[in-house]
Amino acid sequence: MSASPGQSYFSPEEKLQWMQLALQQARLAAGLGEVPIGAVLVSSDKQVLGLAYNRRELDQDVTAHAEMLVLRAANRKRQSWRLSDCSLFVTLEPCFMCAAAIQQARIHEVIFAAYDPKSGAVCSHGHFFDDHRLNHQVCWTGGVLQAEAGEMLQTFFRTLRRRNKVREQQAGGGRGRRRQLAEAGAYHPTEPAAARDEQNASDQPVGLSPAD
Ligand SMILES: [Zn+2]
Repeated sequence: MSASPGQSYFSPEEKLQWMQLALQQARLAAGLGEVPIGAVLVSSDKQVLGLAYNRRELDQDVTAHAEMLVLRAANRKRQSWRLSDCSLFVTLEPCFMCAAAIQQARIHEVIFAAYDPKSGAVCSHGHFFDDHRLNHQVCWTGGVLQAEAGEMLQTFFRTLRRRNKVREQQAGGGRGRRRQLAEAGAYHPTEPAAARDEQNASDQPVGLSPAD
């Protein structure tokens, strides 16, 4: 587990409890064929202001990441864009889009589960929240229930690869077709490390990178 030096509103036990709630949201996403990522936004007096899961495919909305959806829910509930007393729990390290929105909303703290080496903006790929040139720094903790969140993602991508392999065989193959099918379930352009490692061990290309 890694963290910024900032002060957290939550004990380690409380972080586990809230992350379990975010994982429940991620399971809902998996059941709908979305990449399983869930989030919950909690105020300093421990009230839930937003619960959401990734809906990018369902809504065909590039911004429909779980973090963006809980921010919007909280903005509506509070009738305010400023959420400076709030903490955001999410099952995967936020991307740059979400990190920027979190910082803009003046969120106090982000707690995430799995690390995302290719797209994670907090500590894996970038260090957005630690940039002291910004007008607000967000505290963060990574690795809370990392194994559970990572396993859920790994299982999702494993199932996706199997499904794509069958469809590809039925369709007669072709790299363009393979890429198109793989992207139908992709949330981030890359998978977390555990899922990628399994991909590398497989002889079946996954093609989760953008098509451009
Ligand atoms: Zn995001």
